[in-house]
Amino acid sequence: MEQILEADILKKLKANFGYESFRLQQGQIIENVLAKKDTLVIMPTGGGKSICYQLPALFFNGITLVISPLIALMKDQVDSLKANGIKATYINSSQSAEEQAKVFEDVATKAITLLYVAPESLPMLQNVLNQSYISCVAIDEAHCISAWGHDFRPSYKQLSFLKKSLPEVPIIALTATADKATQEDIVTQLAIPHADRFISSFNRENIALEVRPANERVQQIIEFVTKRPNEAGIVYCLSRKATEQLASKLQQKGIDALAYHAGMSFDERSATQEAFIKDDCTVVCATIAFGMGIDKSNVRWVIHYNLPKNIEGYYQEIGRAGRDGLPSDALLFHSYADVIQLRQFIENTGNKEVQEAKLDRMKQFAEATVCRRRILLSYFGEFIEENCGNCDVCNNPPTFFDGTIIAQKALSAIYRLQGKEAMGMVIDVLRGAQNAAVLDKQYQQLKTYGAGKDIAWRDWQHYLIQLVNQGFCQIAFHQRNALQLSNLAKKVLFEGERVELTKPQVVEETKVTKKAKKKTANTTLFDRLRALRYRIAKEEDIAAYLVFNDATLREIERERPQSATEFLAISGVGQRKLAVYGDEFMEEIKSFLNEKRKTKKDTTLETFKLYQQGHSVQEIGELRGLKTTTIFSHLSKLYLEGKDVSLDEFVTPAILKRVANAKKELKNETALKPYFEFLGEKVPYEQIRVALTILQKK
Ligand code: ADP
Ligand code: ZN
Repeated sequence: MEQILEADILKKLKANFGYESFRLQQGQIIENVLAKKDTLVIMPTGGGKSICYQLPALFFNGITLVISPLIALMKDQVDSLKANGIKATYINSSQSAEEQAKVFEDVATKAITLLYVAPESLPMLQNVLNQSYISCVAIDEAHCISAWGHDFRPSYKQLSFLKKSLPEVPIIALTATADKATQEDIVTQLAIPHADRFISSFNRENIALEVRPANERVQQIIEFVTKRPNEAGIVYCLSRKATEQLASKLQQKGIDALAYHAGMSFDERSATQEAFIKDDCTVVCATIAFGMGIDKSNVRWVIHYNLPKNIEGYYQEIGRAGRDGLPSDALLFHSYADVIQLRQFIENTGNKEVQEAKLDRMKQFAEATVCRRRILLSYFGEFIEENCGNCDVCNNPPTFFDGTIIAQKALSAIYRLQGKEAMGMVIDVLRGAQNAAVLDKQYQQLKTYGAGKDIAWRDWQHYLIQLVNQGFCQIAFHQRNALQLSNLAKKVLFEGERVELTKPQVVEETKVTKKAKKKTANTTLFDRLRALRYRIAKEEDIAAYLVFNDATLREIERERPQSATEFLAISGVGQRKLAVYGDEFMEEIKSFLNEKRKTKKDTTLETFKLYQQGHSVQEIGELRGLKTTTIFSHLSKLYLEGKDVSLDEFVTPAILKRVANAKKELKNETALKPYFEFLGEKVPYEQIRVALTILQKK
């Protein structure tokens, strides 16, 4: 193949995908593939891996074979390509013989550009797997080939023969899992040891990180979701039962939530997934199984109802938010009960030590008092120089105070309870609770009983967890989670060592409230565009975000394009989408703008009516619930339009003269403030406005 010019690549990027420029290393990766070199791409979820093989496919003579593990995802990708005017299809065993024959024919005649197939269906392609038909092989989710990855799939093992059968065809392997051992395993097993590696940053800056204590989780989630109307999100729960219970509680509050877990039938799960992808349901309460097959780019938030087992899992799950690059939220609820439960799970599994170490790292993340993103990225071997400014710790740094007395009370209670009681009882004793459990054991006799009455239950929990984290006491997981003192505790109890504690955080939702308020006001242009997108998607039976993703929709809202050229300038709009959707969207913008103009016109006319009926400016303001300044601006407008409004009533000739003079001095200034100042701040704004209007007409 002759040299391909960068300009040609960029041209196709715009024409077929609608993008102006490349992200991250996309450009270099594409050049590498076009040069027919084997390539390994490690890029976070949402980084934009697909284009790395979809764009080169447009230049190759033969087809690009895409190996992808999930059939659900395949259909989505094919729909997305078709929406961009690219010929693509997939093959699997559930298709009829005729459908399959059609695919073979399309390959042989090169009528398609990309062909998607799951590894287990590869044998079906035996007859066409040769270099005259196939120009490139892309292997998505390549980490599935490695038993060291967290998502090993035996069917991936057979991919090792690809290089043998197609020695000259470049292979591009892509994954979002960075782990070094897995990387080596991928290139070895695929027999592409010399593949050029492109490893992008794992930082997903657009995802705001937040951790909250798990008190009244359900209530918190309801508030969180209610403040984000129409924003899609996923709540991950540990148990199947929790997903169902939460979904039904959310439904009771009028939120369209659905449950998803491995215990449901295949059909039920597909239905939930479909509804979510197509924007028919906004919230899915799911066990971790959900999200694997979902490419939905407009997931705006992810909540972890429970603490995840490890940071890999957590990161992968929050990564399902904000693939379109727009601001998104990741909220994690941290509870001690979860840690205890996860410990118990680990007890019964094979590599206990490794898992315990991973859980510890997860816990450290949840309890961090420094920038959470730094912790997260350092886990993946990436170090950033500055705090991120987009996590709860950065936004609301914890304040430390001298907590020595609090620590002494707590440790002394643990001491007097002889290391036999779990956190709940320790707190009850500290707070002097009168419940049966306490009284049965005669704990009211203890010296520390009630010594911490003045501190709320929840706050004690916060302090005790910190004492555990700082090593003054520990949880004996094998003795019903009893709290026990460590050697460090002696220093606090007997040597007066100072202990620093952080104040419990008060959860703030103000930022979001503002956003939500704006939304509820009127239907915005964005709402209208979204509704249109939804309708089109329904008609075409594809996912809404495949019409345009949220980032593109936002840009349309901002730019309000009114011609083909303007519409094409929007990022995410390529030739086909302009041709198919352009007119409808521009129509919608036009009618939105017209209605707005009309309501503006209507409001001045309403004022005029009342004016004609003889009401004073004051009265009109009161009747209409508007400020008098607004009424004056209506009257001024009407006056300029030639309506019968005698503005002269509102200013004396003397003031008119002074304003006229000011106008000369201020060289026809139009803003009001300079006049106000020029006139010694004595003439009210309204009168200045009226005077200027009269002068303008003259
Ligand atoms: P990944 O497969 O790495 O998770 P995708 O390929 O699905 O990511 O891309 C994620 C999102 O980013 C998609 O909505 C895609 O259209 C968008 N995207 C990809 N490349 C670009 C680009 N160069 N400019 C703007 N948006 C892009
Ligand atoms: Zn931060």
